[in-house]
Amino acid sequence: MIIPKNPQLTEEEFEIVKKIVSEFGCSVTPIPGETMTVYAIKGDERHELMFNRLEGLPFVLRVDRIQSMYKLMDIHSELSKNRFKIAGKIPEEDLIVIAGHCTIDPKNPNLFFESAHAIKEAGADVLRGGVWKPRTSPHSYQGDSKAIDILIEARERFNIPVITEVMDEEQLEVALTSKVDMIQIGARNALNYSLLKKIGELTHFSRIPILLKRGMHMGPIDEFISAAEYIVSHGNPNVVLCPRGTVPAIDGYRNYPDECITPLLKQKTWAPVIVDPSHSVGRAIYVPHAALAAIAYGADGLIIETHIRAREGIGDDPKQAIHPSTLAQIIEDAKTLFYNVKKYQKAYIPQLENVSK
Ligand code: PEP
Ligand code: MN
Repeated sequence: MIIPKNPQLTEEEFEIVKKIVSEFGCSVTPIPGETMTVYAIKGDERHELMFNRLEGLPFVLRVDRIQSMYKLMDIHSELSKNRFKIAGKIPEEDLIVIAGHCTIDPKNPNLFFESAHAIKEAGADVLRGGVWKPRTSPHSYQGDSKAIDILIEARERFNIPVITEVMDEEQLEVALTSKVDMIQIGARNALNYSLLKKIGELTHFSRIPILLKRGMHMGPIDEFISAAEYIVSHGNPNVVLCPRGTVPAIDGYRNYPDECITPLLKQKTWAPVIVDPSHSVGRAIYVPHAALAAIAYGADGLIIETHIRAREGIGDDPKQAIHPSTLAQIIEDAKTLFYNVKKYQKAYIPQLENVSK
């Protein structure tokens, strides 16, 4: 929709606009109002360059998008029927909980196994374990490929699917060769478009679920959804969106908690939402509140840093990991809440009509 600077375009200006939109296979129709005329673009109006050209015209005030910029992630796209399972569960029908260490200590596999066992007992569906770590300081522990074997061994021992974060193509290939069940793209790589494309391509056949964290510097929600569109448009439609807090942080928290964007995400896109309360508030004592708030906002699941003896952790664990016994309580409370909030979600998520529990 084109809004002109003056009450209406001159004949010459209208011709210029017509010429631009026709180059992109669109047409333009004036809609006269009482005080001004606006101009509707008809056709697929998602061409970035068309928008840039129109917005660059000196007689155009602004151009509003009617269609969303993401064709595949859009709630109205064909893919909205896309249903995939995580640990055998269909998101939206059952609560999904991912839990585990921020970082696996390759020198202490037993510590991870102890946690994994307790986490499985607590009722988690997927086990997390950081093999490679995106650390703020290059002097901090960066991860070690050897830890992937520990993660895979934990999966076999405790019969629980596993997820790990990758930061580049090489790590992605190691993770895929090791047959991890799910891949995490961290907040720092949420806008690494080359990596997002590569992930879509390399998981095209396996279609393993990809958990995409929201970048801490991300502003508009459309930027987050468009990042997921990169993965989907390059071959893997099984994407999960993960709000994890943004900057600037609330004084006392690690980030600015953003679990409240879940209803907005769910109105715009069909993708499941799994919230990370650990990196959002960043302190174990606040995590239960943030986790339950996320479920109250309609999240399909949680990813929570959990550790049997957090003080011995080598990543974020010592300050923000909860104990598996707390995880068990959160899961119990979250389950009740999860089904209770469905009645509110039905007002804006049409697919929920069939979810009965
Ligand atoms: C993590 O999950 O341990 C992590 C580093 O997360 P984020 O990318 O959200 O900071
Ligand atoms: Mn962490």
